[in-house]
Amino acid sequence: MANKIMSINAGSSSLKFQLFGMPEEELLVKGLFERIGLEEEMGFSYSMKDEKVKTTIKGKTHEDAINFLLHFLLDRKILMSLQELAGVGHRVAHGGEDFKKSSLVNLEALKKIKDLGKLAPLHNPVNVVGIEALQKELPDCPQVAVFDTSYHQTMEAKNYVYPLPYRFYEEDSVRRYGFHGTSHQFVASEAASFLGKPLESLKIVSCHLGNGASICGIKDGKSVITSMGFTPLAGLMMGTRCGDIDPSIIPFLQKEKNLSADDMDKLMNGESGFKGITEFSSDTRDIISEAENGNERAQLALDMFTGRVKQTIGAYAAELDGLDVLIFTAGIGENSAIIRERICENMTFFGIQLDESQNQQGSMRISTEASKVEVLVVETNEELMIVRDTYNLI
Ligand code: ADP
Repeated sequence: MANKIMSINAGSSSLKFQLFGMPEEELLVKGLFERIGLEEEMGFSYSMKDEKVKTTIKGKTHEDAINFLLHFLLDRKILMSLQELAGVGHRVAHGGEDFKKSSLVNLEALKKIKDLGKLAPLHNPVNVVGIEALQKELPDCPQVAVFDTSYHQTMEAKNYVYPLPYRFYEEDSVRRYGFHGTSHQFVASEAASFLGKPLESLKIVSCHLGNGASICGIKDGKSVITSMGFTPLAGLMMGTRCGDIDPSIIPFLQKEKNLSADDMDKLMNGESGFKGITEFSSDTRDIISEAENGNERAQLALDMFTGRVKQTIGAYAAELDGLDVLIFTAGIGENSAIIRERICENMTFFGIQLDESQNQQGSMRISTEASKVEVLVVETNEELMIVRDTYNLI
């Protein structure tokens, strides 16, 4: 019986996959192809049950990776036949205003995803490569696109139109889209289940703090406001991205330092944030340990980051007219007790009171009994969300 669903997340030189048995949501195998296209070989690692393997395989393209993967699933008897695969869900970076929810990939949808490459030139084209590679191997298997942006399509115009001449929105689609939607949606729904309350009854601020970081204000189960914008560069300071800065700095530096638009783009995306301030790392683990050793730049970077997150929580609570649940997720949010503590300190007036020992232990609920706001650490799982959406659509 066709009851297995696979998620595919194709990057420029990587392809991640997870295969689930549905509707039990049983993870059967997950893995990653890396260094695709760089040499004649690529890296392949996977884990299932107690088995963890890292190896290399021959091949240069995403198609080679997909081809290998399907044979691997059959050879290892994870699938008895490819007919067991009921559908494949693809992570797609940008759905623009066309995709307000996940969508079955037909010819029309594929064309729209390709056209949206204009808004996400680094991501959508490579997502399309993943979709087309699978279509070629499995022409009869339904494929679904799950967009990073679609969850935020519920924002009102006042929260997505930029105060630039309105024609740039109309003619060039310049507006706030927001990203990490799959993650924010997933953790909000997990939080509601954990609390045993309907999602629609909760005012939630979700902090996805990873190498890329964004915050989302959620009311009635819908995204009301989010910190990333036209691109994932906006909002919080991140590993190597600057987040919001005075826009005048851009033409100023271009003139002063004789930088092109592309130079500036690279500088703001790849050389800023934690990396730009500390000048030694974009990884918060290194920065926390250097800050403890007295490195002032590391301390400044942490103060800047935690301060910006705190300010955004306050602003979003104002937008939501209250706050019931504060969620921390992703690499930093799930693992760093010290960063969660720094963000939540001096927020008692606001109804946020952390339980120090629960926070240290990384429990799911890290607020005290007396805290008006429930503070939760929720592990994100974008792949499971992709698979759930795919299952529901097909
Ligand atoms: P991505 O945006 O690449 O998916 P992740 O969600 O995997 O990022 O998060 C990566 C970030 O999480 C890195 O900056 C890493 O340093 C941070 N991180 C992981 N574990 C810890 C930890 N124990 N303490 C602090 N930061 C951590």
